[in-house]
Amino acid sequence: MSELSKCFYEATAGKTCRDLCHPEYASCWISFVESARLLLPGSFKLYLPYLVIPAIIKGGGYTRKYWRDSILGYCDLSFKTYVVAVCGLTFQCVFYKLFGELKYYWVMFFPGLFSTILSPKMSKVHQRLQGITYFNMMLEALIKQTNLSLVVALRDSKLLGTLLFMIFNARILDILQRVPVNHFWFAYPVKIKKGDVNSEDDSRVLGTIFPSAHKACSHERSCDMHILDGFLKYSLTGFIIELARFFFNKFPVLMKEPRKFLPEARRSLSMQLMFFFGSYIGAYRLIGCLLCRHFGEDRPINNQIAGFLGGLPYLIYPKYQVLTLAFTKFIEVEWDYYFKTAKKIPGWMRQLDRLPYLRIVLILGIAYLYHTIVFYPHLSPSFNRKVINYCSGNRVERLRRRLTGWMLQNEWNKA
Ligand SMILES: [Zn+2]
Ligand SMILES: [Zn+2]
Repeated sequence: MSELSKCFYEATAGKTCRDLCHPEYASCWISFVESARLLLPGSFKLYLPYLVIPAIIKGGGYTRKYWRDSILGYCDLSFKTYVVAVCGLTFQCVFYKLFGELKYYWVMFFPGLFSTILSPKMSKVHQRLQGITYFNMMLEALIKQTNLSLVVALRDSKLLGTLLFMIFNARILDILQRVPVNHFWFAYPVKIKKGDVNSEDDSRVLGTIFPSAHKACSHERSCDMHILDGFLKYSLTGFIIELARFFFNKFPVLMKEPRKFLPEARRSLSMQLMFFFGSYIGAYRLIGCLLCRHFGEDRPINNQIAGFLGGLPYLIYPKYQVLTLAFTKFIEVEWDYYFKTAKKIPGWMRQLDRLPYLRIVLILGIAYLYHTIVFYPHLSPSFNRKVINYCSGNRVERLRRRLTGWMLQNEWNKA
C-alpha cells in the first residue's frame, strides 16, 4: 500500500459518500437528481469553443448543412460528456454502498472508468478527438510523474524537446507526402511535381535572394506568395485561437467588471502561439523553396530537411501539449504508413489493429486523469482541471479540498 493510500484510509475511516461527495444533499438519490438537473450547461459551455473556433477559422462559405452538422455534432458531444460526468459522480455513491466504505481506487478512478465504458458511444470523429486529447493529457501527467532519468532530462530540457519535435515533424511530413493518409497535422506537404525547365522563376523577393533558372518547386503560385500566404494565414489562426481562448476564460470577468477587461487582456493575451504558427509554416515553406532552388528540382529529401528544420520554432512555444501531440501523431502516421506499404503484415499486428484502441485509450485516460486530479493535482494538465470542473459544476474540486483537509488533519493529529 502506498503512503498516500494508507493516509487515505486513515483519514476516511468511518466517513460516508455523503461526507466526501455530497454533504449538501441529504441522500445519494437527491445528489443524483440534482447533478442530472444542474450539470447539463457545464459540458455545453466547455465545448462551445469547439463549435465557434472552427467556424471562425473557416472564415466563410457557411451553408445550412455546415451549421446543421456543426450544431448537431456539438450537441451530441456535449450531451454524451454530460452523461459521463453524471455517471461518474453517481458511481462514487454506488461503489461506497457496494463496499460499505470509501476505497482508494473506487473514489474517482473506477467511477471514471465505468462511466466511460457505460456512456453512449461517440461518433468516430469525436471519439478520435477525445481519445487523442485524453491520451496526450495522460502522457503529460505521466511525464510529470515519472523519475526515469531519460524522461526527466526530456522534461527539463527545452533543446531536447525541440530536437524530438523536429524529428517527429520531419517524419510526419515525409509520410504525408509519400502516401495519402488522412491525418490532421500542422502542415500539409505539396505532392512532388516534375519542374518545367522552360518555366520562369516568378518570385521577386526570393528570386533576388536566391535566383533560379526555372520554377523548380511543386507548389502552384510563386514562392513569395506560397510563403507569405502560409505565414499570414497561420499567424492569424494562432491569434484567433488565443483570442477565443482568452474570451472564453475571461468571460465571467467581462460580465461582472467590464472595466477590468482591457487591463486583463493586456496582461494575459499572449502572442506566443501566433508567432509559433507563423514561423513554423514560414520556416518550413521557405526552406523547402530554397532547397528546390538549390537542387533545381523537388525531391523527397527537400521535404524531409524542411520538415526537420521547420520544427525549430518549437523553441518559441515549448509546450508539453505540442510535443505529446507530435509524438501521438508520429505513432499514428507511422502505423498507418506501415499498413499501407508493408508487403507482409504479421498476424499479431493485424489483430492489434482491430482493437478499438481509441476507446480503450479514452476509458483509461479518463479514469487515470480523474484519479490524478484528486490525488496528484499538481500533475494534472490544466485542461483536465477545466474539463472536470466545468462538467461537475466544481463538485470534484470541493471533494478534493474536503479530502485534502481530512488527510492534513489526520497527519496533524499523528504529529
Ligand atoms: Zn452518496
Ligand atoms: Zn517555392
